[in-house]
Amino acid sequence: MDFKFTEEQKKFRQEVRDFLEGEIRQGLWEPTCDAWIMAYDPEFTKRIAEKGWIGLTWPKEYGGQGRFYIDRLILTEEMLRYGAPAACHWFADRQIGGAIVHYGTDEQKKEILPKIIKGEATVGLGMSEPDAGSDLASLKTRAIEDGDDYIIDGQKTWTSGGSHMNWIYLVARTDQEAPKHRGISEFFFEASLPGIDVQPIVDITGGVHFNEVFFDNARIPKKCLIGEKNRGFYQILNQLDYERSGMERLMANYVLFDALIKYTKETKRNGKPLFEDPLISSRLAQLKIELEVGRLFMYRVAVVMDEGNAPNWESSMSKAYGTAFQQRVASTAIEILGLYGQLSPESKFVPIHGMAYHSYLSSKGYSLQAGSSEVLKNILALRKLGLPSK
Ligand SMILES: Cc1cc2nc3c(=O)[nH]c(=O)nc-3n(C[C@H](O)[C@H](O)[C@H](O)COP(=O)(O)OP(=O)(O)OC[C@H]3O[C@@H](n4cnc5c(N)ncnc54)[C@H](O)[C@@H]3O)c2cc1C
Repeated sequence: MDFKFTEEQKKFRQEVRDFLEGEIRQGLWEPTCDAWIMAYDPEFTKRIAEKGWIGLTWPKEYGGQGRFYIDRLILTEEMLRYGAPAACHWFADRQIGGAIVHYGTDEQKKEILPKIIKGEATVGLGMSEPDAGSDLASLKTRAIEDGDDYIIDGQKTWTSGGSHMNWIYLVARTDQEAPKHRGISEFFFEASLPGIDVQPIVDITGGVHFNEVFFDNARIPKKCLIGEKNRGFYQILNQLDYERSGMERLMANYVLFDALIKYTKETKRNGKPLFEDPLISSRLAQLKIELEVGRLFMYRVAVVMDEGNAPNWESSMSKAYGTAFQQRVASTAIEILGLYGQLSPESKFVPIHGMAYHSYLSSKGYSLQAGSSEVLKNILALRKLGLPSK
């Protein structure tokens, strides 16, 4: 393994940093935690699209840049480092475009990829249902053929960004009789069609991030089917690798970590700067060690992808590690800030913009979303350790 970045990669990282710092200087947005999934800013996404930074790895013939996954990882790492408001294009860029590149027809690639690349598709992921989370194959939402269309009926839940989406990716049952893994298909269509109703769910932070989505006789054209009918479950496995393996699994809270270091330099307790407390400095140093180990996991996934392989157990390992790390960052922040850390962002006494409160509460979901840590460890046990399946 070569641990060095090439001169072009270093130049690209600097270009991204300069761009993001310029945006912050102009006051276009402020860095926040979880910005990749919570901060919806269509204008920011447009500017990113103009730079050609959406669809970086996709084939040039469909408007992509045909670049390496390492380049994309550098880009996303910097976006997370600066807490940039990238939620409008994140899901489409991370996994839907890739799924269409793999499984879409030529017509779908020509129609959908340019929309994503221009930053016009804000996507919701319609996978989980009230009785189908880890065991996704138990899903009940149906897609029944009717002439040139499919009719969709059922319910999805925990759909992140559902109230912002204009496109939805949906997994639904297309064969009611087949064994559960073999009767599922993938669809991608505009979320404004009649028969689709989005209802917000208030989350643990008191905000609205995910939603319930109801389908009542929603009619979608057959051309919205992605890949092969009834092979959806196997296609999703490939897509989940993209979903699990990104830098957001390690660095969604980086802005908090950075702010915490500044806080310990600037804040005095009992007449001494906080960083002089050896317990505090050693906790922060320990987190830095863990962060750097996590970066190696993430770059390893990108290397596997650049070699043309599916990072299956590698992405499970990096997500399980990364989300546990982020939970430690959030709880360390709460400990260092003391009782003030638990204040909500509205309080006038709240330190570092209430980021600790927000991150501590949201980090509970990190090890559930996109596959729980327990399930990821099952994958590792099976596919890397070769332990028999239960
Ligand atoms: C913040 C957030 C955002 C989300 N966004 C989306 C989204 O945009 N779209 C979407 O479709 N879904 C989304 N989800 C849902 C997410 O995918 C599910 O929460 C996840 O798949 C787990 O499913 P579940 O919540 O039904 O829990 P369950 O599957 O019921 O699991 C409950 C507990 O049992 C454990 N468990 C389950 N099965 C096993 C097993 N075989 N071995 C060991 N332990 C097991 C789990 O680890 C977990 O601790 C989101 C979730 C969160 C928290």
